[in-house]
Amino acid sequence: MNTVASYNFINQRALVRVDFNVPLDKQTFEVKDDTRIRAAIPTINKILNDGGSAILMSHLGRPKGGPEEKYSLNHVVATTALLLNRKVKFIKDCIGEEVNIMAASLQPGEVLLLENLRFHPEEEKGDKEFANQLASLGDVYVNDAFGTAHRAHASTAVIAQFFSPEKRMFGLLMNAEIENADKAISNPAKPFTAIIGGAKVSDKILIIERLLDRADNIIIGGGMAYTFFKATGGNIGNSLCEEDRLDNALQLIKKAEEKNVNILLPSDSVTASSFSNDAERGECASMSISSGYMGLDIGSKAIGDFRTVILQSKTILWNGPMGVFEFSNFQAGTKAIAEAVAEATSKGAYSLIGGGDSVSAINKFNLADKVSYVSTGGGALLEYFEGKELPGIAAILKN
Ligand code: AMP
Repeated sequence: MNTVASYNFINQRALVRVDFNVPLDKQTFEVKDDTRIRAAIPTINKILNDGGSAILMSHLGRPKGGPEEKYSLNHVVATTALLLNRKVKFIKDCIGEEVNIMAASLQPGEVLLLENLRFHPEEEKGDKEFANQLASLGDVYVNDAFGTAHRAHASTAVIAQFFSPEKRMFGLLMNAEIENADKAISNPAKPFTAIIGGAKVSDKILIIERLLDRADNIIIGGGMAYTFFKATGGNIGNSLCEEDRLDNALQLIKKAEEKNVNILLPSDSVTASSFSNDAERGECASMSISSGYMGLDIGSKAIGDFRTVILQSKTILWNGPMGVFEFSNFQAGTKAIAEAVAEATSKGAYSLIGGGDSVSAINKFNLADKVSYVSTGGGALLEYFEGKELPGIAAILKN
C-alpha cells in the first residue's frame, strides 16, 4: 500500500478528504478552534512540496440536505490559507461542470477547497454515482479524515473503489491516528491502565468489554460510575444513573473478576446540592450519598488511589472526564487525573487521550503537549477500540 510519505505527487491532482468540521462563531462565522485544519496541513504540504496540487473536500456541521450559509466551507478558506501560507481557491459546489473545469485547470502547488459535501444528501447516503463524480476530480485519493472514518459516506469510503490500490492512501494524520490507536490496543506495554469517564455507561460498555481482554486496570469515573455504585447496593442520591444498565454494570464487574482485571471506582465523591457550579458542596463515600445530593466529581481519596495506579502504568488510555469539569468547582478530579497522566508520561509511559471531552479537558488544563498523543477522532476512535471495522479505513485497504 502506498503512503503519503513515500508517494511522489508530482503533477498529480490529489483529492484529499479532510475533516474541516470546525466550530464557527455563530455571528461572524470565524473559525473558533482550528485544531482540525492544523492537523491536515502536513499532508497537504507534502503533496504541494512534491509538485502536486490538492483538491480538499470536507463536511461541516449537519446541513439539512441543501446549501446553508452557516455551514459553508467558505468560512474556513482564510484560516486554511493562513496555515498553508498560500492562496486557497474555493468553489461553491463539490460536483458539476464548473467544479470539473476548475479542478482540471489546477496547477502544481495550487489548492482548491470544495463546498460542503453534505449540501448533497448523496454524501451521507453513500451514493455511488455521487462518489464517482467526486472521484473524477483527482488522479489520486487521500483520506486524512480520521474523525469520519467510522461513516460509510460517499467521500470517506465509497469513493475509494474508483481508484486503483496504488492511487488511494491514508493521509499522514490518518496514519498517525491508526498507529497510536494500535499502540494502545494491540500490543500495549504493561501495566496498561484505561481511564474511562463521562456521563453514560451505555456509551462505553463495548469499549470496557474489549478492554477487559487487554488492560490490567480500568479506572471508571464521571457520572457513569454511579450506575456501578447503585448496582452494588449503594445510595447515590440524585447522581446520574442509568437504571436499565444496572445488570450490565454487574456483569462488567463479574467479568473483570474472572479475567483478573482490576476495576477501580472512585471510593469518594465531591457532591453538590444541585447541578450547578454554585451548588453547596460536600465530600463523602460514593456508596452513601444522601438524598438531595449528587456526585459531580471524584473525591480526594479517589484522586490519590487513581494517581498511584496511573503512575505505575506503562500504557495509559484516557477517554471521558472524571466529573463535570466544565464547572470550575467540580473540575479538580479531572485536572488531577490529567496531571497524573502527564507525570506518568514524563516518566516514560505511553499515553493516548481520545474522545471529545477528555480532549477538551487536557486542552483546558494546558497539558496536551505533556501526553504522548491526543486523538482527533471521537466516535471513530471509540469504534476502533471496540474492534469494529471502520469503513474509511477498510475501503483504502481493500484489494
Ligand atoms: P461523555 O460525552 O459521555 O464522555 O460525557 C461527558 C460529559 O459528562 C461532560 O459534559 C461532563 O460534564 C459529564 N459528566 C462527567 N461526570 C459527571 C457527573 N458526575 N455527573 C453529571 N455529568 C457528568
